[in-house]
Amino acid sequence: MLEGKTAIVTGASRGIGKAIAQKLASQGAAVVINYNGSEEKAQEAQREIQEKGGTASIYRCNVADYAQCEKFIQDVIQEYGSLDILVNNAGITKDGLLMKMTEEDFDKVIATNLKGAFNTIRFASRQMLKQRSGRIINMSSVSGVAGNAGQANYAASKAGLIGLTKAAARELASRGVTVNAIAPGFIETDMTDVLGVKVKEAAVAQIPLGRFGKPEQVAAAAAFLASEEAGYITGQTLHVDGGMVM
Ligand code: NAP
Repeated sequence: MLEGKTAIVTGASRGIGKAIAQKLASQGAAVVINYNGSEEKAQEAQREIQEKGGTASIYRCNVADYAQCEKFIQDVIQEYGSLDILVNNAGITKDGLLMKMTEEDFDKVIATNLKGAFNTIRFASRQMLKQRSGRIINMSSVSGVAGNAGQANYAASKAGLIGLTKAAARELASRGVTVNAIAPGFIETDMTDVLGVKVKEAAVAQIPLGRFGKPEQVAAAAAFLASEEAGYITGQTLHVDGGMVM
C-alpha cells in the first residue's frame, strides 16, 4: 500500500502523531518521527514500529524554527531519496481568555501550529513538485472551524491551517500533490488529559456520538488521505469529531 514511500510525521513522539506514524508504517511507509522535547518517547515510538517489522527513524526539529525545518527536510530527502507524505501534526495549546492572554502565548501557538506547517511545506513541496506526486496533511481542529472560548490563539492557528491547506492545494494540484486538513474533535491524548472533569463532561455533552475519540481513529483518516485512492481529494477538511461540528 505505502511500500517505497517516505513519510514525515511532525510531533509523532506522542498522541495522534504517534498513532499516525504507526499506521503509515504498518502500511509499509518508511516513517520519520519528528519530535521537539520528548526524545525518550520518540525512541519508544520508533522501537514499537521496528518491533512490528516497520521502518522508522527519529529526528529532533522545532517546527516553529524556519532554519531547523529547512535542514530537517533536506536531511530526510538526502537520507531517503524521496519525500512522499508530510503530516503536519505538531501542535500546542496555551489556553486563556482573550483579555488575559499574553502576547507570548499568542505568538507561541501561532508559531508552532501555523507557521510550523508553512515551514515544512515550504521545503517539502519543492521535492514533491519534482516528483510530481505527494500528500500533505495538516492537523487542524474543530476549534479552528467553530471557534472555542478560551482558545483564541489556538482557534486562530487552526483556522489559519485550513486557509493554508486550501492555498497550497491550489498551488500544488497541477503537479499531482494533494493537500488536505483533518479537524479532530476531542481525542484522548496528553493534550486533553489535562482538562478538568467538568470540562470533559461538558465536552462529551456536545458530541453526538457521546464520547472522546481515539488517536487511532484520526490516524485512519490520515492514512486514507495519504493513500493513492485519495488522489482526487484536495483542499478539503475531514472532520473526525463524533459529529461535534456539522
Ligand atoms: P500531544 O499529545 O500534546 O502531542 C503533541 C506532539 O506535538 C508531541 O509529539 C510534541 O512533541 C509535538 N510538538 C509540540 N511542539 C512541537 C514543536 N515545536 N516541534 C515539533 N514537535 C512539537 O497532542 P495531540 O493531542 O496528539 O495533538 C496532535 C495534533 O492534533 C495537534 O496539532 C493538536 O492541536 C491536534 N488536535 C488535537 C486534539 C485532541 O483532542 N487531542 C483535537 C484537535 C486537534 P514533543 O513532546 O517531543 O515536544
